[in-house]
Amino acid sequence: MPSQSQPSTRETAFCCPHCSAFTSQYWFGLGANSLTGDPIPFIPTAKGRIAVADNTKLSQDDRKKLLDYFDQLLTGLVFLKPGGKYAEYKIENLHLSKCHNCKKVAVWVHDHLLFPLIKSGDPPNPDLPEDIIHDFEEAREIMNPSPRGAAALLHLCIQKLCKHLGEKGENLDDDIADLVKKKGLNPLVQKSLDVVRVIGKEAVQPGVLDLKDDRDTALQLLKFVNAIATQMISHPKNVEAMYQKLPESKRKAIEAREAKPVSR
Ligand SMILES: [Zn+2]
Repeated sequence: MPSQSQPSTRETAFCCPHCSAFTSQYWFGLGANSLTGDPIPFIPTAKGRIAVADNTKLSQDDRKKLLDYFDQLLTGLVFLKPGGKYAEYKIENLHLSKCHNCKKVAVWVHDHLLFPLIKSGDPPNPDLPEDIIHDFEEAREIMNPSPRGAAALLHLCIQKLCKHLGEKGENLDDDIADLVKKKGLNPLVQKSLDVVRVIGKEAVQPGVLDLKDDRDTALQLLKFVNAIATQMISHPKNVEAMYQKLPESKRKAIEAREAKPVSR
């Protein structure tokens, strides 16, 4: 995605985080009023909606309006409702952008997009175990609001992946070194981990990688997890699948060759 199409508080057009269309975005400043009456925010429940639908005291028109309003609230999406009064406070550092195409609203704190969460960086290798894919996708979702959290989750992904590949998952340095020495992992992959390390600072715990916690590091860690998966899971899997497609006679010939002692 070109940088000017990425959602940003500096632009009036970008790829909408809801519908992905590159289109105009309208910005809104916000005001706040103290709640009067009920001291907590009004959040309708499905049960409350049924009560409105069954309320025969309301005119058909009012009931429909109220049900439409409840339905809109129950989507959980942020929306703008005309009306209201002058605000007691002006809210600073909180902004809304509304998409010209889908009309949906995005919420920003300072210059960070808070809602909806958009995934950043490379998608996971589909050959990764499901629980690692889950953590990986969560890391992509929180990449913008919390790159530090994303880096922590990806650290966990590496740990789980090492265990999945038969390592102990206790000391990541040892595990990665073992994968390189004994299981054929490319040493360049190990080197790429050193790039995202905090150099010259004592690690928090032995065996725990002391990683920088910026966005670039987290994006690099996504690549790191995928690189290990490609080499250690996908590549052997694909070669095995190709091998199984060979005619049986050829496979037998290969197996016979493998079994033959090497003659000098
Ligand atoms: Zn949109």
